[in-house]
Amino acid sequence: MRMVLLGPPGAGKGTQAAAIKKRFGLAHISTGDILRENVKSCTRLGLAAKRYMDAGRLVPDDTIINMMRERLREDDAGSGFILDGYPRTVAQAEELGVLLKEMGLCLDTVVLLEISDDDVVGRLGGRRVCSNCGAIYHVAGHPAEKEGICDSCGGSVIQRGDDMESVIRERLAVYHAETSQLVEYYEKRRLLRRVDAAGPTDAVLTSIESPKVIM
Ligand code: ADP
Ligand code: ZN
Repeated sequence: MRMVLLGPPGAGKGTQAAAIKKRFGLAHISTGDILRENVKSCTRLGLAAKRYMDAGRLVPDDTIINMMRERLREDDAGSGFILDGYPRTVAQAEELGVLLKEMGLCLDTVVLLEISDDDVVGRLGGRRVCSNCGAIYHVAGHPAEKEGICDSCGGSVIQRGDDMESVIRERLAVYHAETSQLVEYYEKRRLLRRVDAAGPTDAVLTSIESPKVIM
């Protein structure tokens, strides 16, 4: 199965993707994670992307498109994938369509996680992540057992710079300006399913397990 997860920052794309990956053994491909790894190890890509990420703006399309062209050709993507954070613009969506066509593949489904802006600010403002393994915590909903220390790997649990409220508001503005056009784009192609992001954590799994989708 090849699917795209859409939704504003904080809708829970990463969490849902992890559950789907576990159930179906798909590759979980997160552009945000790939970019952050590149920033961490100071690659050319990371250096080019960092200032956009820190400001909550989108990294330019050609940079992202080249990065994903390589990523989608790696072996693990061959048996299916979940795209988390890509595409983010109509240009990226068109490019993804071209690339999949070249590979003789197509998308099976696009899931839109719906959530209000205020709920996003509540979720992301309290989000903390493990700087070592990427585990996600929330100061109110799911704190680490020992403050600042990851339950699973002992790494340090921090707040991402782009989870500061002013940057969250900017990310939401970018989402409404650019990414929300993808809803219409995929609706026209009859690929879109809407899922309430405030609902049960397995809501996406339930949605894609409905009989229409062939694994
Ligand atoms: P979010 O929680 O906002 O969905 P991500 O972890 O997916 O954040 O992405 C973090 C940052 O990486 C974005 O704010 C943006 O700067 C950059 N980024 C990620 N994916 C893309 C993309 N497909 N196109 C452009 N920029 C991207
Ligand atoms: Zn950890």
